[in-house]
Amino acid sequence: MQPKVGRSNLQAKVFKRPGTALGCFVFIVLFVAQALLSPALSQETDSQPLQVYGYKMAGDSLHTRIVIWFDKKPEPKWFLLRDPYRLVIDFAGTAFDVSPEDLKARGLVAQVRYGNIDTGRSRIILTAAGPFAVDKLEILENENSPGYRMIADLTATSTTAFDAALSQRVAGADPTAGTADRRIVPAAARSKLFTVVLDAGHGGIDVGAEGSTGTLEKTITLAFALELRQKLEQTGKFNVVMTRDTDKFLRLDERVRIAREHEADLFISIHADAIRYRSVRGATVYTVSDKASDAEAAMTAARENLSDKLAGIEVEEQKDDVADILIDLIRRETHSFSMRFADTLLGELSDTIKMINNPHRYAGFRVLRAPDVPSVLLEMGYLSNAEDEKLLRSAEWRGKAADSIVAAIESFAGLKGAGG
Ligand SMILES: [Zn+2]
Repeated sequence: MQPKVGRSNLQAKVFKRPGTALGCFVFIVLFVAQALLSPALSQETDSQPLQVYGYKMAGDSLHTRIVIWFDKKPEPKWFLLRDPYRLVIDFAGTAFDVSPEDLKARGLVAQVRYGNIDTGRSRIILTAAGPFAVDKLEILENENSPGYRMIADLTATSTTAFDAALSQRVAGADPTAGTADRRIVPAAARSKLFTVVLDAGHGGIDVGAEGSTGTLEKTITLAFALELRQKLEQTGKFNVVMTRDTDKFLRLDERVRIAREHEADLFISIHADAIRYRSVRGATVYTVSDKASDAEAAMTAARENLSDKLAGIEVEEQKDDVADILIDLIRRETHSFSMRFADTLLGELSDTIKMINNPHRYAGFRVLRAPDVPSVLLEMGYLSNAEDEKLLRSAEWRGKAADSIVAAIESFAGLKGAGG
């Protein structure tokens, strides 16, 4: 601060006597002196602490962008920490002027802390909700105002991918080389067991559909998912992960993030919808698509996608990175696996439970959008139909349906053929 204060004091003295010849002379001398001094002055300005004057986060549990505004060009150094998953960014001594409101948990970022670590060094620590990849961390000069901004893009990833990135950084790899392939884990690094993520639809404040006798969808889906987990685990062939195993609210993108965190081989979201037409009954298997197979499927997806809004969450539509060809290829492959599993599941289920007409349908379900995890959404029946509601509450019916799903998963996993 000293040089600036001195400079304005000099000018103030000069302007006190603007009319005199001496004043003019002094003004010119000082003007020249200032011009000569200015390189030194600007150097001293550089030694002043960096100033952070703005902080913003946007995105969801799958992709989150962090933007930090600086008065001068920062030279960040970053690294990763485990347990919990953290991104640590170090700067030269920095003065922070940020609103606590902007630091509130958002998307992948569960907590933001900052401060000085010693004289001349400052640190920002972002604690994440789960493993992530730093896709990009760059410094840009502001276009319409002075100063610079740091942009960091985080993407949810698996534990294995995070660990690989962590050891890569320890080994001193290029910190800016954040590419899509970090999110893809070599097959050898994966767990040997086929991992199934079971997603009991709704939960907590989001009760889902309601049956005529008061049955709540969130209760039925959890009971069914727990039973299915038990049956899958009994085979000893599967690693089963539940997105929730209690009555709690979970965002849709958080469900997808959990599937990616565990490198799921299959994601099954379990539901029991209700519609106006009380006579409609039977199970439906849905896969994801930009275009819905029919108007009913589009409405089902719209109802299921409401979950986040019911809980008061502002849903930000994420535009997928079109340039990311690798991800696009993976998405296509994943989609064909999702279609294959949907067919297998229909084959098994139609032997044991009642299916709707055209039981394989598709629409834009937010919970089915993991690019690398084959995903289906199973509407087991309609709570709006009295017969379906009765069956959904029956332990015997649930047991039969669960057995069929286990058979479908075994077939899909190729375990039957392998004699396992
Ligand atoms: Zn539902």
